[in-house]
Amino acid sequence: MSNPSTSKLKLRLTPAAEKAARSGHPWVYAERIKEQNRSGELGELAVVYDKNNKFLGLGLFDPDSPIRLRMLHAGSPQTVNEEWWQARLQAALTRRVGLGGSETTGLRLISGENDGWPGMVVDRFDRTLVLKLYSGVWLPRFDEVVNRLQAATPPERIVLRLSRNIQALAREQCNLQDGQIVFGEPLSGKVVFLENGLRFESDVLRGQKTGFFLDQRENRQRVGQLAAGKTVLNAFSFSGGFSLYAARGGATSVTDLDISAHALDAANRNFALNESVPAVAQCQHHRVQADAFQWLSSTRDHFDLVILDPPSLAKRESERQGAITAYESLAASGIRLLDKNGILVAASCSAHVTPQEFFGAVLRAAQMSRRPFTEMDRTGHAPDHPVTFPEAMYLKCIYLRFT
Ligand code: SAH
Repeated sequence: MSNPSTSKLKLRLTPAAEKAARSGHPWVYAERIKEQNRSGELGELAVVYDKNNKFLGLGLFDPDSPIRLRMLHAGSPQTVNEEWWQARLQAALTRRVGLGGSETTGLRLISGENDGWPGMVVDRFDRTLVLKLYSGVWLPRFDEVVNRLQAATPPERIVLRLSRNIQALAREQCNLQDGQIVFGEPLSGKVVFLENGLRFESDVLRGQKTGFFLDQRENRQRVGQLAAGKTVLNAFSFSGGFSLYAARGGATSVTDLDISAHALDAANRNFALNESVPAVAQCQHHRVQADAFQWLSSTRDHFDLVILDPPSLAKRESERQGAITAYESLAASGIRLLDKNGILVAASCSAHVTPQEFFGAVLRAAQMSRRPFTEMDRTGHAPDHPVTFPEAMYLKCIYLRFT
């Protein structure tokens, strides 16, 4: 933390960055900082002044990241104290009142920048909180954050997850490790929670992201409503989220396709967790461990409903064009496997690919198939994953029916 005797960190930005920050954009890149009164420390609160020397906003400074400043606030001057942080946390929790409940105990409580907590995600799985940090700016305030979360929710335990880029820093500066329990009861395995009445496990200690993809909840629900009497292929199935909904919705068979044996084992366990649901018990559950791109283009199997939910295909801007082409050929493969009246559900979680580009790619594949089709729906983010700036809009999904 900064020494209280040193002056506060003051920044001035380029005109474009000033404009973006004023309109609420949360990232200021290093090259857009025009003036700085001294070198700043990790996580230090910095004040941004505009070209007329008027207060513009506040942010958390990160000397080692290309995103040099993560904005917390833009507008009138504010005092960032205990009450301020408390109010900010409460606002995120209040935004989600009514979204969970006795049937849904897995919920995103803090969605990073979109909730005013840049670089931080908090997911709740039953009584376990997963605190995932994507930025080192929280490390100097780590105990404060944990105490505040613990007091406000209150959980049985808090698990810390760290993105790869800050793991060394967290170990060196705070002796913190990815997968560490930072509050409450020890945990050796997975946590079981409910989503719309279905039971799922989340591998909170070691799984991808926070252990489960809560952002697809509404799309999974939708698939459940479309699945009655159908044969379903769930490509990039992970732990079988879409499959369980399809099975409960009356699918006659579901096939999980994933490259990872761990993911398929998790899907098996999730089916076992729900075997008391008659429709789930009756549904045939198949698993295929394979590269989905290869398998989809070579199989002779056919399905009534095909779900395509690959991992991000564009991790950086330079991969954007390649990802658009990959989405198009993936959709083409999926459509080829569809029987008459078949439904394609295609999703993208690449932030670098816009909704327009993704929907365009899937629709091109549909047109190229020369089969008549109708667009049923386009969806985006789940309500506990709000979006407040363009780069945060990563999830898009389109539903097409082929006659
Ligand atoms: N639809 C899932 C989330 C999918 S995450 C849900 O609702 O929870 C993406 C999945 O794709 C991961 O499980 C990963 O193992 C898998 N995957 C990544 N590359 C793959 C490939 N080339 N072929 C098949 N599966 C792949």
